[in-house]
Amino acid sequence: MNTELPNPNRVLVIDDEQSIHKLIAARLRPEGIVVTGELDGVRGIARAITESIDLILLDVGLPNLDGFQVCRKLKEHPSTRNIPIIFLTSDSTMEAKIRGLDMGAVDYVTKPFEQAELRARVRAGLRTKRLQDILERQSFLDGLTGLWNRPYLDQRLESELNVAHRYGRPLGLMMTDIDHFKVVNDTHGHLFGDIVLQGVAEELRGYARRSDIVARYGGEEFAVLLTDTPLSAGTFVAERLRASVENRRFEVHDQVVTVTASFGLACTENIVGNVTPEALIDAADRALFASKDAGRNCIHICEGGQIVRVTGSAGLIEAQ
Ligand code: GH3
Ligand code: MG
Ligand code: MG
Repeated sequence: MNTELPNPNRVLVIDDEQSIHKLIAARLRPEGIVVTGELDGVRGIARAITESIDLILLDVGLPNLDGFQVCRKLKEHPSTRNIPIIFLTSDSTMEAKIRGLDMGAVDYVTKPFEQAELRARVRAGLRTKRLQDILERQSFLDGLTGLWNRPYLDQRLESELNVAHRYGRPLGLMMTDIDHFKVVNDTHGHLFGDIVLQGVAEELRGYARRSDIVARYGGEEFAVLLTDTPLSAGTFVAERLRASVENRRFEVHDQVVTVTASFGLACTENIVGNVTPEALIDAADRALFASKDAGRNCIHICEGGQIVRVTGSAGLIEAQ
């Protein structure tokens, strides 16, 4: 999923006639739409998968793969499934229109097309896409903290692992859990507990880089996916976060309350065996568990199957 709402809108034209590309570009560019094109279905599909496309204008009568086959493939692929498709057809028969709509196209335009009609249909398709993107994005956000939720983290973990593997880059996963949070709730009430969760989320978000994915993993447990980050750099991030959580002051009824959190860190470079999402989560989880076991408010890392405690301040960190 593309989580950023792209601006300006990008329309991909798949049509074997060059003149159609020119015509459509001339009609849509004045609307501020970026128009790109491919002359055949296979290249069109590849383009839709690799680029961020908001709408596809798809010719029915294409050589090799016809428009209906291209449509089917686009609807099957997870990264193109949600792109609205408008068929361009010179066949205005009812059967052709119904077939296209049944295959998941949102609309069709009959060639030769009216300028105003083409523009209006494209605008309507783009509006639908935008609303869909907003809804999808919202379904991946945690309501209390505004962080990503667990389904989103699981999905990103899978795709970031692929990227890390393909480019030979390290991917870190940090798991953190607030210490004795039940006591905070029991002493000061659930609403205050919610404020603490929001505060900890703010610390995590504040320290993360734009490329890191910060998520609420469960009740009072958070996960941060550290892209392009080896274990040593991830350890510094964890230590900074540990200290920032510890130093944050929460006020309730003229009383200052502080909390601590325990951390577990793992990295793709230090996993023994297959680097799967489950293996990375399991390694970070075991490290977190070791931090709890060692008295909380500390960091453990998973290094080649060994769980190692890390101590020190942000400036000086060493493995014991
Ligand atoms: P530990 O140090 O071992 O992690 O102890 P803990 O008390 O933090 O862990 P435990 O799992 O026993 O309790 C977690 C508590 O977090 C219990 C649950 O009610 C609370 N919690 C989970 N989600 C929320 C939430 O959204 N808001 C509030 N206020 N509390 C929550
Ligand atoms: Mg806890
Ligand atoms: Mg817990």
